[in-house]
Amino acid sequence: MRIGVVGAGPAGLLFALLAKRRRRDWQVEVVEQNPPDATFGFGVVFSQGALAFLERDTPDLHAALAARMESWPMQRIVHRDEAIDIDGNGFSAIARLQLIQFLQELCRAAGVEMQFGRRLQAPPPADLVVGADGLNSMVRGTQGFAPRVEWLSNKFVWYGTRQRFECLTLTFRESAHGAFVAHHYRYSPHMSTFIVECDAATWQRAGLGRMSDADSRAYCERVFAADLGGHALVSNNSMWRQFPLLSNAVWSAGSCVLIGDALRSMHFSIGSGTRLAFEDAIALDLAFAEAGEDVPRALAAFERERRPVVEKLFNAASASSWWYEEFPARMRGFDALGLAYDYMTRSGRMSDERLRAVAPGFMTRVKKES
Ligand SMILES: Cc1cc2nc3c(=O)[nH]c(=O)nc-3n(C[C@H](O)[C@H](O)[C@H](O)COP(=O)(O)OP(=O)(O)OC[C@H]3O[C@@H](n4cnc5c(N)ncnc54)[C@H](O)[C@@H]3O)c2cc1C
Repeated sequence: MRIGVVGAGPAGLLFALLAKRRRRDWQVEVVEQNPPDATFGFGVVFSQGALAFLERDTPDLHAALAARMESWPMQRIVHRDEAIDIDGNGFSAIARLQLIQFLQELCRAAGVEMQFGRRLQAPPPADLVVGADGLNSMVRGTQGFAPRVEWLSNKFVWYGTRQRFECLTLTFRESAHGAFVAHHYRYSPHMSTFIVECDAATWQRAGLGRMSDADSRAYCERVFAADLGGHALVSNNSMWRQFPLLSNAVWSAGSCVLIGDALRSMHFSIGSGTRLAFEDAIALDLAFAEAGEDVPRALAAFERERRPVVEKLFNAASASSWWYEEFPARMRGFDALGLAYDYMTRSGRMSDERLRAVAPGFMTRVKKES
C-alpha cells in the first residue's frame, strides 16, 4: 500500500511513523513545504493527562520527550499584582522545533520517505492520502470536505522571551487602552513562550494594527514590564491574528482523510492542539490495525471511534475560548482569587468536587476567602 502524508507537523509525522512501524512493506511518504529546520512559534505545552496517553500508546516517544521537557506541578494566575497558584494542575513543555526534529529522526530510522521544501497543490497519488497540512489545509480545500469556521474576535500574537517563568502562568494587565492577558511558560531552560491577547476594541485603541513588529513588541513589553524582568519579547513571524474555530462535518472523502489542525482547531487556551494531533494520528493507525489494507473500512472506524472524543473536547475548548472573549469584564468583576476560580470552571467540565480533588490547596483558599 502507498500512503501519502501532506504536512510534516506533529500529526503527519506521528502517523507516518506509526504506519511504517505497523507494516514495513507499506510505502509511506511525507511531503512538507518548509525545510526540516523551520517552524513557526516557540514552545508547546502538554497537561499531565495529555502525556499519559503518549506513555500508553508510544512509550519510546514518551520517554525521549520526557527527558527533554520542562515540567512544573501547578498553574498560576496573576491579577491586580497578586499571584494565585492552582496546585495539581501540572504541565510540561518543549520547543516545537525540538519535538518536530525528534519525530523526523524516528521517521527516518523507521524508513519513512520525507521530502521537504515542496508545497503540494493537489493530493499526491496514493492508496491513502492523509491531510495533515494544518489550519489552511490544501487537502481540505480541494476534496469537498464541509468545513465550518467561526472567527473569535480577540487578537493574539505568539512571542518568545528569555525571561524564565516558574510555571504556566496567565497574567492579566491593564494598559491606558484596555485589558491584556499573557499566556506564558518556559519550554527550555533559557526560553519561554509569551502569547499576548486582547479584545478587538483595545487592539484598535492601542493602534496595534498600524504598528511595525518592533513597535508592537515594544508596546507589549511596556504592558508586561513587571513580568518580563527587563527581557525583550522575541518575534518569529509573529503577527496579530484572530483564532478560527474550525470543524468538519465530513472527515474523509474517497481515499483522503484529515487529521490534526486540518480536521479541527483547538483553542490554545486549553493547550491541546498538539495533543489532539497526536491522538488523531494514533487513532488512525489503530483503525488500520483492525482493517488491514481496507482503506474505506479503516476510515469509517477512525471516524466512529474518534468523532465523539473530538467533539467533546472541541466543545470544551470553544467554551474556554468564549471565556477569553469576555475577559476584560471578568478582570473588572473579580479579584485574583475570584478570577482564578472563574477561570478554572470556565469550560463547564470542572465541578467544585472535581476541583477539590485535583487542587485541594487552591480550593481550601477559595472556601476560606469566599
Ligand atoms: C498561538 C498558538 C499557540 C499554541 N500553543 C499550543 C500549545 O501550547 N500546545 C499545543 O499543544 N498546541 C498549541 N498550539 C496548536 C498547535 O500549534 C497545533 O494544534 C499543532 O501544531 C497541530 O499539528 P498539525 O500537525 O495538525 O498541524 P501543523 O503543526 O500546522 O503542521 C502542518 C504542516 O503542514 C505543512 N503544509 C501545509 N500545507 C502544505 C502543502 N500544501 N504542502 C506541503 N506541506 C504543507 C505546514 O508547513 C506544516 O508544517 C498553538 C497554536 C497557536 C496558533
